[in-house]
Amino acid sequence: MPNLFEKQDILNFSDSTLSDWFKTNKIAPYHLKQIKKWIYVKNSKSFYEMTDISKKNREILESFFCIGSLETIKIRKSKDGSKKYLFKLKDSNLIESVLIPEKNHYTLCISSQAGCAQGCRFCQTAKLGLVRNLSKAEIISQIIDIKADLKEHKRLTNLVFMGMGEPLANLSNLILALNTIIDSNEGLCFSKRRVTVSTCGIVSNFQKLAQNTEARLAVSLNAADNKIRDMLMPINKKYPIETLIDACKNYPLKPRDRITFEYVLLKDINDSENDAKKLIKLLKEVKGKVNLIPFNNHFKSEFEAPNLDTVLQFQKILSDNNITAIIRNSKGSDVSAACGQLAANCL
Ligand code: SF4
Repeated sequence: MPNLFEKQDILNFSDSTLSDWFKTNKIAPYHLKQIKKWIYVKNSKSFYEMTDISKKNREILESFFCIGSLETIKIRKSKDGSKKYLFKLKDSNLIESVLIPEKNHYTLCISSQAGCAQGCRFCQTAKLGLVRNLSKAEIISQIIDIKADLKEHKRLTNLVFMGMGEPLANLSNLILALNTIIDSNEGLCFSKRRVTVSTCGIVSNFQKLAQNTEARLAVSLNAADNKIRDMLMPINKKYPIETLIDACKNYPLKPRDRITFEYVLLKDINDSENDAKKLIKLLKEVKGKVNLIPFNNHFKSEFEAPNLDTVLQFQKILSDNNITAIIRNSKGSDVSAACGQLAANCL
């Protein structure tokens, strides 16, 4: 039974709801801007720290709200410098996020759900099934908490929704979170060009996503024909490749923008010359580029990574046919933090 006296996470509320609440509690509306600065810029976790707000108002705020509600359970550091964070939610469910160091900045891979219902066969999260959607507060708290943990001067500038869960299956909370993440006046100030939402292909939500945010779209494709994609990704039975590619063609893009197609290369499944040729045909009229991700071998997996020659040959066939194809060796595999390996330490 929910505890009616439990403090609410202020990160879950919209500005208009908070403004109404401020009015009812006789707190001046301009304090909202100050509070957001304390939370998003100064990583404050307590209203008592907000010294430009009167003591009385801080006490009122502190009695009703908390700021973020994730508990850091474990941080594992990979040999390549990536860090995997295991967080406990208020209801004791677990989620993971991965911080990836790049040359001049950090990229953070965050979760949108605890577990996932989509059942992709190469993915460890799928084995958990869907536990539940994350709230807006739980989504953005991953960013706030990890930002507060950064010791180096390198900045966290890039964000990818490629952690646990399917973001478009939690669309309303995703949109609320993106609005705070990309808000450059009073939010977390990420550039819209550096925030990417990755989907397995929930086509019915593409237009709503495009209408409500300018974050970039990535599609986890992984096969160029329905037979292989049906086997790898159950969503393909609902939205077959032709439907998915049509939705990508109709996705509103700015002149410089392109959709990223992620293609996990699996030995003897989708890595042949013929597969590459089918992919070229499929993407011929789409404004897109391809990220080739050699599979991360993991314990008990039914799949294997192709050898390097096969990966390079696949890339060459795409490049020779004017498709930008970048090989992305995902980081953190030694601490199960690489693509498709997030399972909240449960497996
Ligand atoms: S790859 Fe993504 S959508 Fe598919 S099961 Fe894993 S987390 Fe879910």
